[in-house]
Parts: sequence; C-alpha cells; structure tokens
Amino acid sequence: MTYLGLFALQHRGQESCGIVSLKDGEHIHHKGLGLVADNFTESELDRLSGKTAIGHVRYSTTGANLLTNAQPLTASLKEGPLAIAHNGNIVNAAEIRERLKKEGAIFQGTNDTEVILHLLARDRAERFEDRLTNSLSQLEGAFSLTILTSKKLIAVRDPMGFRPLSLATIKDPKSGEKAWVVASETCAFDLIEAKFERDILPGQILIIDKDGVKERQLPAKSQLAQCIFEHVYFSRPDSVVFGRGVYHSRKSLGKILAQECPVKADLVIPVPDSGVAAALGYSEESGIPFEMGIIRNHYVGRTFIEPRSQIRSFGVKVKLNPMSAILENKRVVVVDDSIVRGTTSKKIIRLVRAAGAKEVHMRIAAPPTTGPCHYGVDTPTKEELIASSQSLEQIREFVGADSLGYLSVSGLQKAVSAKPNEFCAACFDGKYPTELFGH
Ligand code: AMP
Repeated sequence: MTYLGLFALQHRGQESCGIVSLKDGEHIHHKGLGLVADNFTESELDRLSGKTAIGHVRYSTTGANLLTNAQPLTASLKEGPLAIAHNGNIVNAAEIRERLKKEGAIFQGTNDTEVILHLLARDRAERFEDRLTNSLSQLEGAFSLTILTSKKLIAVRDPMGFRPLSLATIKDPKSGEKAWVVASETCAFDLIEAKFERDILPGQILIIDKDGVKERQLPAKSQLAQCIFEHVYFSRPDSVVFGRGVYHSRKSLGKILAQECPVKADLVIPVPDSGVAAALGYSEESGIPFEMGIIRNHYVGRTFIEPRSQIRSFGVKVKLNPMSAILENKRVVVVDDSIVRGTTSKKIIRLVRAAGAKEVHMRIAAPPTTGPCHYGVDTPTKEELIASSQSLEQIREFVGADSLGYLSVSGLQKAVSAKPNEFCAACFDGKYPTELFGH
C-alpha cells in the first residue's frame, strides 16, 4: 500500500525514496536514490513486511541529493526505533542545528529534518507525546510529517499549514478491519481505494495506534499559510488540496486569465502537462478553440543524456514537439502555469514559430514569480527569477512572444478561493509569512 501511495506521489519528488515498515516492534527499511519504480523490487517489498509503514519521495530543497538525506530518516530513541518522513522546509533548522552542534550533537546528513530527531532525543519530558510537542513547537516554517515508532503512527501538520496532509480510511478486504492512511495528496488514496476522511488541520498532531486516534494541537500562529503554488503547479490535478479540487482551480486560473488578458487568436494550446487545465479554462472562457498543439514525450526522465554538440542540441524538443499540421499559419495562444527563468517559454515559442505559427501570444496562469520559496518548493534564487528584475515588456522580448500576459495576484486568489491570511503566495507577492524571511 505504501509503495503504491508513493507511486501516486512520485511527482512530489524524484531524487530519492524510501519506506520503513514496522514488524514486531522493529523497523525494516529500504531507501535509494531515484524513482520509486526503480528502487523497490518484489523481494524488497517482501522484506518490508508488517502491518504499518511510512514512505517518502524526496526533492531536495535543503541538503544535497545523497543517500544520507533520503527519507524516512531513522534513529533509535529510548522508546525504541523512530522513523520520520517530512514534506516542507524548516526555516530555522540551520539555527537549531548550530545550537545542537555546540551542545555536542552529531549530524549524519545536511537536511533540515534531522533536527527533529535531535530535539526529540534531548527533550527531558517523560512521555513521548510531550517530547514531540515540545520539539515541534521550536520549529518555524513548513512541516507535514509522518512518524513511525515501535507502536504508533503519528501525523503532523505545522501550525501555519503550509503543505497539505490528508487522512483516509481503508478496509481490509478479508477481515473488514478499518485502518488509517495519511498522505500528502488525495490522489494516493484513489490508487489504493482508501476513503478520504478529512484534511489534517494546521497544528494538529494525530497519534494513531491500536486503540484508535488521539489528537493534540501545537500552539497556533497568527495566520495560516497554505501554499497557493500547490494549486498552480505542484499538486496533481486529480487531488483535492486544502479542501479544493486542483483541476478545478487550474481551470479557473485559465478562465480568469482569459478575462484579464484577452487576445484575438485562432487557437489555444497548452504547454503539456503543466498548462493543460488552465488552457482548457482559457479556451472555454474566450471561445477560442483548444488544441493539443504540442505533444509531450512522457519517457524523458531526469537521466536523459543530452548528446554532445557533434550531433546538435535538442534541448526542449526532446520533450515537447509542436505539430505544424495544427499550428501552420495560425495565431496561437500558448498557456503555461508559470515562468521561472524564462528559458522554457523562450524555447517553446521558438519551436511553435518554427512549426508555422503566425503569431504567438504567451499567457501565464499565475502572477510573475518574483521571489524564491523558503517553504518547500524548489525555486532558484531571486537573481535567477526573470520576473524579479525584468519588466513585462523585457520578459516578452526575452521569450520572443508577440504578447505576454500574466494573471494578477487578486485573480489568483479568486481562482483558488483563497481567503486573505489563509494562503501563502510569497513567491508571487513577496509577503513571507514567517518572521525569518518576512518583512
Ligand atoms: P523556466 O524555463 O525556468 O522559466 O521554467 C518554467 C517551467 O518550469 C514551466 O513550464 C513550469 O511548469 C515549470 N516549473 C515551475 N515551477 C517549477 C518547480 N518548482 N519545479 C519544476 N518545474 C517548475
């Protein structure tokens, strides 16, 4: 089940993966670099026996892509084995780490998650639950966690609720016994036919054991900061995130984009896959026909080796192929979810023109990305973000479009029904909700 869940969540991280299972009070682990499908053989899965497990797919925002940073991280505490899987980025981890090192702590890796293990090991409270609450209360930033001990499965969402985390139930087909499932996105529940129950609320700690589910609450923060980029790009469109279907959000983003940035054209085409739902919304709202004018090769993994220059540079063409049969002599609106450095849009526009398009109008279903994310999405530094220093006209010229339009911040909030003080849109509006990085 955990393996299948990770499979459904592969888009959240491709660098490393791992599973820890619990059998007879002991942990069994397997971790590796790369994709879920390449790391778990049938015999590995047989070895990971037991009735409870946690798993993780990693995409590094803190710490290098090394096996020591692959998760779940494991440790041995006074109660026995402990494993932890973390989504998000703890913004004061470096500070805590330095303090702990001065006090004599030895760190294995370079990631932010390991500080949780040390805080847990050092806290003097008698009961594990109290040590957990004390430790997590010291953290700032984003942490959706699953923790496995020798007896319990624990799920935690940070008090600002940056990253999603949902709860479901599943019935054993033979015994009819009910079991609990926790995952970052509901698409994992769909695959294993688990029934979505509810989101784990910001600041909630759920402690699940053979007696059922107990709840605890971390001290509240002044605002919520659910990541709006989960709806723009990160989550799978078939997931329900923060109580709202992602596909539905993306279509709304496209519809509002069509209202805010209209243009006369013959076709709307998406950049697959990230722009598909928004392009459908743009097409529906504008009445301009939708076509899959660019076809994506789905087999281009991270391991693709660019042939040396003796052959030629294929670049984005390996992955995306615009069809001249569709584009020849047409005025085309190209829709994508975001522009980061601007290089992808530039290449796509060049290819769409080479395939015969007469005019190319770029439309982006999010506002300009002007700041890096400190809460778990991998964005480059501010200097590398084209919209942090260039005007709309300069970006249009760089990407080579006839016109360029971005969604407004208010359009974005409207599309995902975001209430002020509930969402983080710092990458678009510069309002970082934590003290560290905040204004
Ligand atoms: P760029 O060429 O740097 O402008 O990248 C833009 C492309 O990257 C768009 O097609 C986006 O769908 C995609 N993208 C946006 N944010 C991310 C992210 N955090 N990780 C990976 N790809 C992204």
